[in-house]
Amino acid sequence: MAEIKEVVDVVRECDLCGETNYVVEKIFLANEWDSVKKFYQSSKQMNPFQYLPNKFELLKCLNCGLMYVNPRIKDWVVNRFYDEYLSGKYEGYIRNYDSSFRETLFKEYFHLIKGFLEKNEEERTFLDIGCANGEFVKIFKENGYRSYGIEVAPLVAEKAKNFGEVFIGDVEFELKKLHPDSFNVIALVDSIEHFSSPRRTMELVYDKLKSSGVVFIETPNYSAGLDIMSRHFYLFSIATMEKMLNAIGFCILYNNYSSSIYNPTDQMKEERFIHVIAKKL
Ligand SMILES: [Zn+2]
Repeated sequence: MAEIKEVVDVVRECDLCGETNYVVEKIFLANEWDSVKKFYQSSKQMNPFQYLPNKFELLKCLNCGLMYVNPRIKDWVVNRFYDEYLSGKYEGYIRNYDSSFRETLFKEYFHLIKGFLEKNEEERTFLDIGCANGEFVKIFKENGYRSYGIEVAPLVAEKAKNFGEVFIGDVEFELKKLHPDSFNVIALVDSIEHFSSPRRTMELVYDKLKSSGVVFIETPNYSAGLDIMSRHFYLFSIATMEKMLNAIGFCILYNNYSSSIYNPTDQMKEERFIHVIAKKL
């Protein structure tokens, strides 16, 4: 089984602007995989993770400033990790996924987003890309929306199905199947940094939003320095995020930093995440 060893792609082109000139901002050790590798060493099962390199580069585009990781782990490898991790397979090796804080946090996000919506829409629809257990899908549903999610990890997606319709599979593939001009709100909370082409994904998001629909994005802030890892293919600043959204045709309505303070197991930092809300023109 040769393909199990083919776990990364070399990346030399900026997803935002296409520039091929970059500087190596940092070389880092991918020790976030140590626990997964240990789990598989003890279970002796075939797995792709043992073939991951130990070192990755964080590159900075010399034209637009976007930060991206090289090489890039193939989607099927990362997707397999998330499915196994979120379903508790690595118990005892990696702390379990704790989503208890998310509902409180997402209620605040809902009220923030609501302030930017048109007041007179009759039928309201919401899509959460990377919906995990479906906490955000649930909150929008409780507030009168027809609520949908996309989730790559089948086992957690089953929980999300209690709150709305959930499409299970690769994000781009599932997005392409949806009708254009369908949603009032699309959210991407801690998901865009994992996509192989955020620009392509956001072009699809633009297409699926109704006119005057809004997108809400939360993603790690590069400058906070806490989220440099091989699974985060892209690290944004407010400036690079807005550049990408503007290039697609979005109009920026709001930006801010957030510490995501409800996650008790995470390291606190005031500006750990960026929040951007943008509108389809
Ligand atoms: Zn660039």
